[in-house]
Amino acid sequence: MKIGREDFEALIKGERTIAPYIEMDPVAGSYSVFGVKTASNPNYLVKAIYEMYEANLDRKLAVQAVRKLFHSVGMGAGGLNNLLKKSGMDLKPAEFLMLVFKLQHQQGWGAPFELVEAGEHRIVLRTKHTFESEILKDWKMPVCGIHRGWIEGVLIAVTGKNWFCIETKCHANGDDACEFVADQRESSWKWKAEAIVKGESAITEYIEHKPLRGTIKLIDDPVVIMPRFIFSSMMNSLKKTMGEMPAGGVNYRAYMDMGRETVEHYKKMGISKPGLLSDMAFAFYSQMGWFNIIRMEWDEAKKEKTITLEHTVEAEAFGTTGKNVCFCTAGLLAGIVEGSFGIKVQGREIKCRSKGDEHCVFTITNKPG
Ligand SMILES: [Zn+2]
Ligand SMILES: [Zn+2]
Repeated sequence: MKIGREDFEALIKGERTIAPYIEMDPVAGSYSVFGVKTASNPNYLVKAIYEMYEANLDRKLAVQAVRKLFHSVGMGAGGLNNLLKKSGMDLKPAEFLMLVFKLQHQQGWGAPFELVEAGEHRIVLRTKHTFESEILKDWKMPVCGIHRGWIEGVLIAVTGKNWFCIETKCHANGDDACEFVADQRESSWKWKAEAIVKGESAITEYIEHKPLRGTIKLIDDPVVIMPRFIFSSMMNSLKKTMGEMPAGGVNYRAYMDMGRETVEHYKKMGISKPGLLSDMAFAFYSQMGWFNIIRMEWDEAKKEKTITLEHTVEAEAFGTTGKNVCFCTAGLLAGIVEGSFGIKVQGREIKCRSKGDEHCVFTITNKPG
């Protein structure tokens, strides 16, 4: 089937629909539009995608992961854009976006959007509801990650710039419409890291793992996966050479430096507020599997910070030993606080899971002198 400029122009004007361009071969099991194989909207697949992410993330972050996944679907529109350009049609990004969703909607997928605002750096779209907002209505929150990612992907593909789309209203949240606001903005390290601290992204969104090339990056920084038993292994070999107490001290010292260097790195990336620096370090180490933060308390009279953690990397590696084992974690926490606030502190573990306590509890106090 030959498709030209006049076909697309008629589609945009609404003089024609995609019906004459649909080819369906039930025996071969194929369904195509403009010669491209497609399918109708399978609700169970949409639900399965959301639920796969929900299993490891909370719902808010699962929506974000779906958003990320659908970038690639949106990026696929680059081919259509090139075809239109070749046939002499030069649509503005917002016009192209509307065409993509018109074509998708007529195939049972995308929402029938109304263009609310079409600026160079901001595009606003509205629709009564999307298919995912119907399928996930019982989540009772903004759920349209598919459309958000899709819009972003289309805009990235046609402008070559980075776009970020949020949903300001959602049918699944009880609103009268789903409304999408796409902004063109740089996607810097700082911006991504702040989204992680605010709980709007999980680090998994920014892990670039190339297992066959032996590389892993977390927001452009190279990282490695280590087995947890490295902590008991290292501690045991240090113990053999220098004895238990000094070994604990060496670990505390080394991880304190690491905590400080972590904060220094964030400073180089443009983060400067002390509270944000420490929150960022705690959020990153926690999401990297070092511990889970149960609570943090500040005692103004004693000038003492108390941090309660569960499943610290060492307590998990050592198991029950009858003693405190989290020297590395104590050093790390102290180093983070020192680096963030520019003060000298002492970190101590006062309760430990390995000793039989419920959680590992650390105090951070100012170092006198
Ligand atoms: Zn929605
Ligand atoms: Zn512990």
